[in-house]
Amino acid sequence: MDTIAQLSLLNVNASLEAESPREKPACFRGKPTDLPITNAALPNGQTIILLKAMVTSACERDCYYCPFRAGRDFRRATFTPDDLARDYMTLYYAKAVEGLFLSSGIIGGGVRIQDRIIATAELLRLKYAYKGYIHAKIMPGADRDQVRRLMELADRVSLNLEAPNPDRLEKLAPKKDFMDELIKRLMWVEQIRQYESPFKAWKGTWPSSATQFVVGAIGETDLELISTSEKMYKHARLRRVYYSRFTPQADTPLEDHPAENPWRQHRLYQSSFLLRDYGFQMEELPFDQSGNLPLHTDPKLAWAQSHLAGQPVEVNTADQAALLRVPGIGQTGAERITAARKVRAISGLQQLKAMGIDAKRAAPFVLLNGKRPEFQLGMI
Ligand code: SF4
Repeated sequence: MDTIAQLSLLNVNASLEAESPREKPACFRGKPTDLPITNAALPNGQTIILLKAMVTSACERDCYYCPFRAGRDFRRATFTPDDLARDYMTLYYAKAVEGLFLSSGIIGGGVRIQDRIIATAELLRLKYAYKGYIHAKIMPGADRDQVRRLMELADRVSLNLEAPNPDRLEKLAPKKDFMDELIKRLMWVEQIRQYESPFKAWKGTWPSSATQFVVGAIGETDLELISTSEKMYKHARLRRVYYSRFTPQADTPLEDHPAENPWRQHRLYQSSFLLRDYGFQMEELPFDQSGNLPLHTDPKLAWAQSHLAGQPVEVNTADQAALLRVPGIGQTGAERITAARKVRAISGLQQLKAMGIDAKRAAPFVLLNGKRPEFQLGMI
């Protein structure tokens, strides 16, 4: 249903080499190393092995970038909730996976497929008493009660916008309605979190939410992507916006379109984090006249070079917000600085380095006890 879902169960072809015949899952037909798995960082910083599973890789929609689009000739697979839940648990018990990303193509409408995703998650939580991580997709067109039920079962829910506005989406996924099918549902998630008690949620707290954009397929600008990201962070309180650089898929309308530069994806992530975690505003990001970010410049460094080079930040007195503006200092670093300077003044780059801060990067933009520390650079 999205670019993440390009890793489907279908790239698993042979029989799983399980410990015993009873443990051989029917859905996951491949060696454990062939499984569509990835390392995923959880909000608490823990990294887990995540299985990316689809209820079905068949789809009636025709998103131009997607290998699962309707009419594309390849072998599709559809799984019942029972099979999917049982086989996931087999892999989980075998310690081959630690969490589940549950997505799907759309056949018979989003409501129908949403029911299957919910049924799979219900089996995991209720029948198997599974207490692990589930990231589940909201289907375009799902109804509000379905969204709530999914939120009661999952640790994260997401729905991919794919494009930053309706005009761009029209060129990428003509059968999706940007406002009605996508934005409205992400807003429901936030409304439910705001106004409904989470006592029915499996952990007693509502899940976080996320979205994803396809980058570089249809000429959208970084300004469009970041501007929509900022609005979604603010109004839908998304925990994460993912940027997935376009790579062409054979036998799709965009198969001859060039792959997007990986640096663009990287700069979008950096800019998105500046807005979400570092107190930056849109107008502080270094967009060029065409509305794009420079590929060869870290946006935080670019800002610091024009704002802090002549007005360095005094590490011993600056507040958290000012420290976060310094390249090389992140949230953990800023917290360590404010804790350490209560004990003794910070006078050397070595002290910053010992706190896990990129002291070389920070050096041109800070004062240590009123002095510029560049002269110390050779010592770290
Ligand atoms: S809805 Fe679009 S993105 Fe999702 S699986 Fe179908 S064709 Fe792919």
